Amino acid sequence: MKAEYMKLAKGAGPSRHMANVDSDEEEERKALIAPDERKFDEDKPYRPTDEEDAAELEVPPRSRRRLTWIVLLFSLLLISAAIPVRRLLSSSESAPNSPATQLLYSNGTHEFRKSALIVSIDGLRADYLDRGLTPHLLAISKDGLRAKSMKPVFPTLTFPNHWALMTGLYAESHGIVANNFWDPSTGREFHYNRIDASWNSSWWYGEPMWETAERAGVVTANLMWPGPPETRTGTSPTYFVPWKDKVSLGTKLDQILSWIDLPLEKRPQFIMAYEPSLDQAGHLAGPKSSLVNKVLKQVDIFARDLHDAIEARNLTDIFDIVFVSDHGMTDMSHPELVYVDDILGEGFERIEHEDGWPAMGLRFQSKADEARYLAVLLEAAAASGGKFDVYTHDTMPQRWHFAHNERIAPIYVVPRMGYALTNRIENGAGMSKGNHGYDNDYASMHAMFVAHGPFSSVVKAIEAERAKSPARRLAALSGRAAEGAGWHSVVGDAYVMETFENVQIYNLMMKLLGIEEYAAPTNGTAGFWDRYF
Ligand SMILES: [Zn+2]
Repeated sequence: MKAEYMKLAKGAGPSRHMANVDSDEEEERKALIAPDERKFDEDKPYRPTDEEDAAELEVPPRSRRRLTWIVLLFSLLLISAAIPVRRLLSSSESAPNSPATQLLYSNGTHEFRKSALIVSIDGLRADYLDRGLTPHLLAISKDGLRAKSMKPVFPTLTFPNHWALMTGLYAESHGIVANNFWDPSTGREFHYNRIDASWNSSWWYGEPMWETAERAGVVTANLMWPGPPETRTGTSPTYFVPWKDKVSLGTKLDQILSWIDLPLEKRPQFIMAYEPSLDQAGHLAGPKSSLVNKVLKQVDIFARDLHDAIEARNLTDIFDIVFVSDHGMTDMSHPELVYVDDILGEGFERIEHEDGWPAMGLRFQSKADEARYLAVLLEAAAASGGKFDVYTHDTMPQRWHFAHNERIAPIYVVPRMGYALTNRIENGAGMSKGNHGYDNDYASMHAMFVAHGPFSSVVKAIEAERAKSPARRLAALSGRAAEGAGWHSVVGDAYVMETFENVQIYNLMMKLLGIEEYAAPTNGTAGFWDRYF
């Protein structure tokens, strides 16, 4: 299938625009610049201004008018018949669909298929939700559920993790082993912010959830999720909006709603959306900054507006919404620098390829004495008193699932929290005040998971039943967690899942869409979500 490229729908009503993405090279180049490593002093600087300080996330006038209209309409409908009804679509109308995806539901005025949205808020560290700045995300999670945190894959970087979320695979399996890396089998370099180097489908292993969904006959829409427009099998999302920086959350909300407002046969049943501003703020000013807090509030208002728009359409029983992030953020305003050139001496000049950041994958020139440089690095790591570690494929911690791929450099230098690798030439220049990419065991690297919709209502009902069981009550009385509980109750009605790995998300979305029989193999745990469905 050929990709249908879209510009963001701006005019009245949803329409498809074919955009020739090759026509404007500059636009393309900017388009993929840095969710992570974007230099904020480039072209349009991103800095807090008075205007921004005053800015709340504006709901665009069109949205507001539409919302008012919709609220009025639904008020009328509630008087008549707004109880969701369902019936099976005749088989001739949806032959390629699996039975579960054929179910039709009514919101009172229109028919809908069971639908799901996944929204990634880049760099939303799990404990940002404890700052008292995200009342709406918390309210949504009280209606639904959240996890204490979601564990990213190693390395805790944007591209490896967005592809892990999409495919349910660890980096060694999905092939995107860093934001930039060298592939010895092709002699090419992957670089996330260069389209010519990253959009080629051959880089991207595994089957993203939109490909599975398309195979199952589900219409999909991708709003800037990091990844290629087409997979190795030549599959594309039905609607595809390529990454572009500085697109407002209001514009993104409008695009999502314009998809939801499409007629049944054109409407995407599965929507993915991506928002980078919080990660950008975290890099620029650090996770404790007022800038991060401000952007966090904006993101929270976006979550509220999305939730309200779904509610205004009477679709809360039809749409599952999952908010995730890819990784956390740690303060790096005063890092202790580790000079790799001091350690390696003349060996530093023999490095041919340097992959990733802040961990560093090293490939030495073929004639260089790699074994000797490895020994030097290992000795320095041991002498450093825990500033950094040095691994080979054989010694890489198994829990990272980061060894079995030739794209992973044979020697990896991994700094511990608070340390940054550099050399005497760079001398720590260009480092941001916040960073990620460290060991995925650090809590500060953990991401968020918040879900809301019919699925989470079922989960809560099941959990409420379980809580009544004698074993659970006894456990609660004695202050122990019940065996295999996986949950703990927090204030009032909210349930909080124990931390889980983001490779489980693929199977969750398959379940929400009712297309598990099409699911590709993943690194997720078989049956992980079964108890909740
Ligand atoms: Zn990221």
